[in-house]
Amino acid sequence: MQASRVLNLNPYKPGEQPKDRVYIKLNANENPYPPSPEVTKAIIHSLKESSMKLALYPDPNSTDLRKAIANLLNATGGHLCRTTFDSCGNPMPALQDKLPFEITSDMIFAGNGSDEVLSFVFYSFFEGDRPLIQPEHTYSFYPVYAGYYDIPLIKVPLKKDFSLDLEKMVQEANLYNSSMIFANPNAPSSIYLSRQEIREMLKVAPKNRVHVVDEAYGDFGGESCLPLLSEFNNLVIVRTFSKSLSFAGMRLGYAVSNPELIKTLFCVKDSFNHFPVDYLAQVAAKAACKDVAYYVNTAKMICKERDLFAKFLQEKGWNVLPSATNFIFTYKKGINGKAAYEYIKSKGILVRRFDIPGIEEYLRITIGNHEQMEELRKIFQDLESR
Ligand SMILES: *Cc1c(COP(=O)(O)O)cnc(C)c1O
Repeated sequence: MQASRVLNLNPYKPGEQPKDRVYIKLNANENPYPPSPEVTKAIIHSLKESSMKLALYPDPNSTDLRKAIANLLNATGGHLCRTTFDSCGNPMPALQDKLPFEITSDMIFAGNGSDEVLSFVFYSFFEGDRPLIQPEHTYSFYPVYAGYYDIPLIKVPLKKDFSLDLEKMVQEANLYNSSMIFANPNAPSSIYLSRQEIREMLKVAPKNRVHVVDEAYGDFGGESCLPLLSEFNNLVIVRTFSKSLSFAGMRLGYAVSNPELIKTLFCVKDSFNHFPVDYLAQVAAKAACKDVAYYVNTAKMICKERDLFAKFLQEKGWNVLPSATNFIFTYKKGINGKAAYEYIKSKGILVRRFDIPGIEEYLRITIGNHEQMEELRKIFQDLESR
C-alpha cells in the first residue's frame, strides 16, 4: 500500500535508547547538564500567565527568537568554549572571535531541530541533476536526506589524520559544479578545520552553488565560519541548540546565512509546515539565548572533562583524536572496538560505535559530567586488566 519511494528510504539510526536497563548515556552527544534555570522559569512563567497560548498557533516566523539567536551569536562569536588545538593536538591560546559584522535576525532561520533545518536546506539548494559532495565519514543524516530527496552523493575519503580532504572535495565540486556539505568540527572524528582553510576552499569552489557547514559542535571549540558570511553569499551555516544548549529534548536548530537564502528556506518551510517551532520551544529558547553565562560555564566544564578524559586515555596508550567537540573519538591498537563497546555496555555505560569499515575499531564517547567520567575511567581501568 505504500508509495514506491518509501521502499528506497534508508532511515537514520540514532544512538540506542534501551528501555531494559538504566544506562549512563554517553552515546548521543547529549549535554549532561540541564538547560539554564532561566529556561525552566520561562516555561513555567509563560504557562502560569497564560496557558491560553497553547491553544493558539505560535509565531510562524519565530520573530523574537531569531532576534535572540542573533544576539547570542553576536555575543559569543559562535563559541561558548574556545579551546583549540594545533596540528599536533596541543591546546592553543583562546582565539578572539568577535564577529567582523553584526548578525541580524533576517540572517536566521529557525526549525524543529537542526535535522529539520538540514532537510529544508537539502530541499532548497541541492538538485538531483548533480552529485552533492560530502566527506566519507561525517554526520550520517546527510546520506539519509540525499536518499530522501533523490540527490546523488559523492563521498570523499578523509585524510590519514581523519581531517577533511578539502582539496579533493573542491575538485569534485568543480568537476560537477556541485554543492558541498560537511560538519565542522566534524563527527564522529571530533576534529576541526580552521576558518582560513575553509575560506581558501570556498574561494575556489563553485560560486553559483550553496555550500553548507554544519556547526552542531561549534560551541565547544574550533573556529566558527560565521565571519565568512560577509565574504561568501553562497554559504549556509547550520547550528543546533541540542548539544551545547541542552535542548535535545526541546528540538531547536537554525541556519545562518544571507537574507536571500534565508528567504528561500522560509518559502520551503511554508510549503511544508507553517509552524515548525512550537510556542514552548520559542519561549524556552529565547530564555536560553539570554543566559550566555550559564552556558559558557557548562561548555567549559564539558571541555575540561573532555581534556581530562583524553589525557587519561592517552596515558593508557589510546589514540585520541584532538577534539573540539563534546565527545572524543578513540581506539587502541590491539583492542577490538566491538568487544570494548560490549564490555563498557555490560558495566552500565553506553558509548557509540560504528559498524563502518575504516572506523569500526573506534569508540565515540560523549563527555558526561565528572561523576559519569569517573565511572567510565574505572571501566577503562578494568577493561585492560581483564
Ligand atoms: C546532533 C547533530 C545534528 C542534529 O541536531 P538536532 O538539532 O538535534 O536535530 C546535526 N548535525 C550534527 C553534525 C549533529 O551532530
